[in-house]
Amino acid sequence: PTFKSLGLIDPLLEALEQMKYKAPTDIQAEALPHALQGRDIIGVASTGSGKTAAFALPILQKLWEDPKGLFACVIAPTRELAFQITQQFESIGSAMGVRCATIIGGVDIQSQKIALAKKPHVIVATPGRLLEHLEETKGFSLRSLKFLVLDEADRLLDMDFGPILDKILKLIPKERTTYLFSATMTTKVAKLQRASLSNPVRVEV
Ligand code: AMP
Repeated sequence: PTFKSLGLIDPLLEALEQMKYKAPTDIQAEALPHALQGRDIIGVASTGSGKTAAFALPILQKLWEDPKGLFACVIAPTRELAFQITQQFESIGSAMGVRCATIIGGVDIQSQKIALAKKPHVIVATPGRLLEHLEETKGFSLRSLKFLVLDEADRLLDMDFGPILDKILKLIPKERTTYLFSATMTTKVAKLQRASLSNPVRVEV
């Protein structure tokens, strides 16, 4: 398939051409048609598969159609991964004017409060710092969230972020689209999946 035949809109096709992404990777080819139909997705795929664009593209496509409010939150296990995800959202979405914020631990919380006050469309976060902001930062909430992504879910749970994720899940709308990506499907991941996704399609590469 081509990106066009998978149903992506022109602004995204142009961005992908600029980035020299010539054809979809396997995980993108499998996930995009379901994601563009609005389904929840479980993606069994590891780094290097193109999984980031597999979840960023449908989110940016929906954002283009309805650019209101805080739109998507991606939760990742490490700061490095969070930065990489933000970079991909920014490179694919720059022509669309997408605003991203990276919310990670170990850095100044005050500058993050300022970034959140600017109403980003996409927040890429590590769990602990995200919960801190949800509990403490005035005027910040995820009440208008449309998309939640749990990236590298197996690592999130191995790092014992489970209880923090449960608290975050209580603070976001039940009516939303959720994508869960994981390199491995463990019992713990299956449990998180049942708690956070509704009628998902499973794609595996
Ligand atoms: P990821 O698995 O999301 O970490 O992506 C691995 C690398 O592949 C990243 O550097 C992406 O920029 C790149 N990439 C993702 N999708 C494509 C594609 N369809 N064509 C070429 N490169 C891609």
